[in-house]
Amino acid sequence: MRVEIVAVGTELLLGQIADTNSQWLGEHLAALGVGSHFHQAVGDNHERIVLAFRTALARSDAVIVCGGLGPTHDDITRDAIAEVMNVPLRRHEEVVEKIRAMFSSRGRTMPESNLRQADVPEGATIIPQTKGTAPGLICPVGHKVVYAVPGVPYEMSDMFQRAIAPDLQARMAERGESSGTIASRVIRTWGMSESGLAEALAAYITDLDEEADADASGGTATIAFLASGIEGIKVRVTVRAADGDLAAAALDRHEAAVRAILTEVAGDVVFGIDDEAIEDAVARALATDGLTLGLAESLTGGLAASRLVNVPGASGWFRGSVVSYASEVKYEVLGVPEGPVVSEEAARAMAEGARRVLDSDVGLSVTGVAGPTEQDGRPVGSVFVGLARPGHETVAVAFTVPGDRDRIRQYATIAALDFLRRSLDASSG
Ligand code: ATP
Repeated sequence: MRVEIVAVGTELLLGQIADTNSQWLGEHLAALGVGSHFHQAVGDNHERIVLAFRTALARSDAVIVCGGLGPTHDDITRDAIAEVMNVPLRRHEEVVEKIRAMFSSRGRTMPESNLRQADVPEGATIIPQTKGTAPGLICPVGHKVVYAVPGVPYEMSDMFQRAIAPDLQARMAERGESSGTIASRVIRTWGMSESGLAEALAAYITDLDEEADADASGGTATIAFLASGIEGIKVRVTVRAADGDLAAAALDRHEAAVRAILTEVAGDVVFGIDDEAIEDAVARALATDGLTLGLAESLTGGLAASRLVNVPGASGWFRGSVVSYASEVKYEVLGVPEGPVVSEEAARAMAEGARRVLDSDVGLSVTGVAGPTEQDGRPVGSVFVGLARPGHETVAVAFTVPGDRDRIRQYATIAALDFLRRSLDASSG
């Protein structure tokens, strides 16, 4: 069963509102195990809405239309559906009464224009409204179906759960399709390019594709890559399974396999799963060893501290950050020896200074050149990260990060936190 979503509203095309309805529907269709290959957005124009419906019906088994069921002249979804069904609109007296009652319960008289919301294409059934004034519609078109729901998100989601989901499940059962579920897991990585990840996983993906071809139900698992800027590159695994438990087990299996392949090719590049950010990974690594952390930040100006305090309970392990922006602060507060402050030596001394001044187990430092001009003979984008911790020699590493001033500071923050995470993970085995 393939379902297509058509979001109606010129405001969507003008970028005045985001199409959160399609996002919500996409997620809930996947949970029902329904495939959804296309989303369309179309303005309030009769011909174009009709074209969108015909296109959707030509390639999908069911269409969910949201928006354009209101009382005003630009709410023309009903008329467009009637044209596609090739039937007239008929006024539905029960709906008229319901809308009238809704107005009088609020002490208002119903404007005549609201009667349009009681116009129903012949042959369609209504999804009774419980929240707004417009009912939803279930409109058969041959052996396919168009569901129409209001654009208001809570009315749309209410009608989906109450009427569309059960109707889709009944249709799938009739077709002998098990509804099952589609579930995804995102494996978060830092330190490998998108093409490097794709290359490392190429053989695994080919095996999955072959399994999918052999599976008449339309596929078992797929892998996709999502480059997400400073949040790293995400590897999304999607599986289809008979129920949630089987889906979770399949995701566990694929996650373990992907982790093993990436670790073999590139080391510890996976820092988290789904919504886990780099700061969560740092928090977990520190908690494993029961360590506290102090920062010395130069070019990042407190960004690393700001990321870390996103984590609930950060006060248990995060001591603070010395934003040592001026060279004198590095020398006088952190005890960095006078000399170039964009260097491995300075990064090491800053890390040790942070540990001492903030009385933390671990000291992490970031110094570098955010631009616009070079400093200490180092080009824009040069970043040094220092790490001081008990039982280990203090170290510093150099990175070159891309972008403008803002991107460089953001990338430097993540590079520093990722270096800390990897170092802690490596020593705790
Ligand atoms: P009603 O019958 O309640 O008037 P409607 O079907 O006419 O609803 P629209 O007028 O198209 O729906 O949209 C109503 C409101 O719902 C919009 O102003 C917008 O805030 C929200 N909305 C519409 N479409 C979407 C969408 N795709 N995603 C998120 N919000 C939406």
